[in-house]
Amino acid sequence: MSRSRVIAGNWKMHKTPSEARAFARELLAQLGGAARPEGVEVVLCPSFPALTAVHAEIERSGLGAWVSLGAQDLYWERQGAFTGEVSGPMLADAGCRYVIVGHSERRHLLGESDEWVARKLRAALESGLTPILCVGETLEERRQGLTETVVSRQLETALEGLAAGAVAGVVVAYEPVWAIGTGENATGEEAHRVIDGVIRSRVRARFGEEAAGRLRIQYGGSVNPANIGEFMAYPSIDGALVGGASLKVDSFTAIVAAG
Ligand code: PGA
Repeated sequence: MSRSRVIAGNWKMHKTPSEARAFARELLAQLGGAARPEGVEVVLCPSFPALTAVHAEIERSGLGAWVSLGAQDLYWERQGAFTGEVSGPMLADAGCRYVIVGHSERRHLLGESDEWVARKLRAALESGLTPILCVGETLEERRQGLTETVVSRQLETALEGLAAGAVAGVVVAYEPVWAIGTGENATGEEAHRVIDGVIRSRVRARFGEEAAGRLRIQYGGSVNPANIGEFMAYPSIDGALVGGASLKVDSFTAIVAAG
């Protein structure tokens, strides 16, 4: 089954709205100046205050058919007295098509539980947003041989009770925590083993062949222009979630071109 690949840039807490606007303009000009890589979708995930500025730049560029806006998080209630939170309908109205849920920085620095991530994932789907569900083990868990256990638990809690058709529309990002922002990436073979042997096979067992075949699964963790090719050589890996290297026009453009 052929799946489109998704190259997403997670800008994290970088770039003010005016910096994000200028950066998006330059990036989109470069992306638009080259041929669209076949079967590749691009998602730009700025901070909340920069969403509308980046959305306007995507519209202006005319690349909206393959470049989308994404947010880095959402809250599961649609509205109400939840100071500081942002809902799915707000993100959809701001032009988002994607939203990251369960990023390891939120799980580990901000204490998000598997159950919270599951609620957020449902809220994203209910708002018509495509969730990018992040899963991955810490260095300690990896040393203890718990990679499969941890990734399966995070995945299964998040997808529990969903219809197979909904699962097929989710994007999963396998991001080993020890590889995020460290410059130490997993090898293509290691990523493939978890992506194919754990994530896709668990989805197949629970939700069937069709959902497993359609589900897109990215690798994330210190992806850069020099190592993207190693991941994209595996047909099981459907793109990348890119942090640090998405903050520079040249490096992100090179990653997209290799996607
Ligand atoms: P990194 O971040 O590419 O800087 O390692 C990836 C991520 O956090 O999604």
